[in-house]
Amino acid sequence: MSTVPDSCATGGTNQPAGQRPWCLECRSDAALIIESIVSRVPPTPGIVHIEYTCAACDSYYAHPAAVEQIATILNNTTTPSSGVLQFGHHYIHCGEPMQEFNAEPIRIRADFPDSHHGPRLTDVSLPTRVLRCQCGFRMSLPG
Ligand SMILES: [Zn+2]
Ligand SMILES: [Zn+2]
Repeated sequence: MSTVPDSCATGGTNQPAGQRPWCLECRSDAALIIESIVSRVPPTPGIVHIEYTCAACDSYYAHPAAVEQIATILNNTTTPSSGVLQFGHHYIHCGEPMQEFNAEPIRIRADFPDSHHGPRLTDVSLPTRVLRCQCGFRMSLPG
């Protein structure tokens, strides 16, 4: 564990592909409001393009950033679960924003094995949004 001096936070040229969200005016990330997160073109695993403003000084920034770096900002307000990073209605998995996947409503098949009439299958349709990651990971959200 070592402390990083203010003036040399990035270690010169030894910078990762993504830049840490940071307000240069305030020298802080405390007031950053992330406006959007989009995939880079071409997609870069773990790196997304973000736009954000600083609520303290109204500065606007846009640049690529590593998902983990964005997570540290978002962690102030959001708790990621199961490897999915949530930002507003954006969900990021594998370092890329998940795409909305408009398929038929999710059908939940419920089994009632102790029913008198034997196993009974009930299809329940729920209005949900399904988001899909490029890796095939899917998650559904309450509509
Ligand atoms: Zn600022
Ligand atoms: Zn994924």
